[in-house]
Amino acid sequence: MAKEKKVKEKLSGRKKPDTGSKLPDVNAPGKKKLIEQARSFSNQYCVGNGEKFRLKDFSTEVKTDLNSDDKQPINQTLQLGIDALATMQDILYAQDKWSLLLIFQAMDAAGKDGAIKHVMSGVNPQGCQVTSFKAPSAEELDHDYLWRCMKQLPERGRIGIFNRSYYEEVLVVRVHEEILRSQKLDEKLITKKIWQERFKDIRNFEKYLYHNGTIVIKFFLNVSKDEQKKRFIERIENPDKNWKFSSADAKERTYWKDYMAAYDEMIRNTSTEESPWYVVPADNKPYARIVIASAIINALDGLGLKYPKISKEKVAELNLIKETLLAENR
Ligand code: ATP
Ligand code: MG
Repeated sequence: MAKEKKVKEKLSGRKKPDTGSKLPDVNAPGKKKLIEQARSFSNQYCVGNGEKFRLKDFSTEVKTDLNSDDKQPINQTLQLGIDALATMQDILYAQDKWSLLLIFQAMDAAGKDGAIKHVMSGVNPQGCQVTSFKAPSAEELDHDYLWRCMKQLPERGRIGIFNRSYYEEVLVVRVHEEILRSQKLDEKLITKKIWQERFKDIRNFEKYLYHNGTIVIKFFLNVSKDEQKKRFIERIENPDKNWKFSSADAKERTYWKDYMAAYDEMIRNTSTEESPWYVVPADNKPYARIVIASAIINALDGLGLKYPKISKEKVAELNLIKETLLAENR
């Protein structure tokens, strides 16, 4: 296969058909170096301590040619990330101890859906669940804002993906304060401190999840206003993409500055070592997916996942069953 075609396939996330063979060994010696590269590559976009975070220090674009030869390791990262996630999911499931929650937040047309689709393409659907959070229903408004998200948390051994999340409570709700007024909260609770209170509650919630074995990793797909405009126009001009566009998207765009200020404060206040934000440059979709794949490798590799070892007694029991099975046809 021509080199160019190979690169294209990697970028598009297309995989060889599943032959039902065993899962990719991400610990194979040749892959160790790639894993190291992936970890250091994603680190530049990782915000583990938000204190000094400023969104303006993070670019939406990347000045790199993914087709150049020296970028091969980066390209390989996407497939490695997809493979790693598939393998790790199998181990997560077997261990039944940890779960992983991936949160995606972004402005419209930043590429959340496509990124989720690509990065999860190798994963066994049985061990993974994607939830999209829209404006809350009447029933949801009768509860605290974490309620609907808690119901969708991944069980031990599983991967959960939130397409939008409780972070909307410090984004859209902050930009449109009238939404806050519709949340059935007593006036006494709506004070100037409410956003700081929400940041603190979210930090504590994620700490609580970590202490109970759920790792939360957050992605902000950082798209520029110009790139969003291009993608909106494409959605309007291309009939097959019309369904993706709504006039509400164009309206939200007019609040761009307010949203960026809200994202800036949110990331500063909710980045922690256990639950970092990744600020992903999203003007280039393939690059964004590679960053996300690397970040997932980083998170999972840090857990040191291993298949559970069974006891000597259990091994003896399994061997006995095997002997009985083999004796059946004698
Ligand atoms: P798509 O890519 O399909 O446009 P989307 O995530 O933008 O996906 P939409 O149905 O277009 O989905 O939008 C969901 C809307 O719900 C967003 O505008 C979001 O801000 C809003 N939303 C989510 N959570 C809340 C919340 N807690 N309060 C108010 N609005 C919310
Ligand atoms: Mg939308």
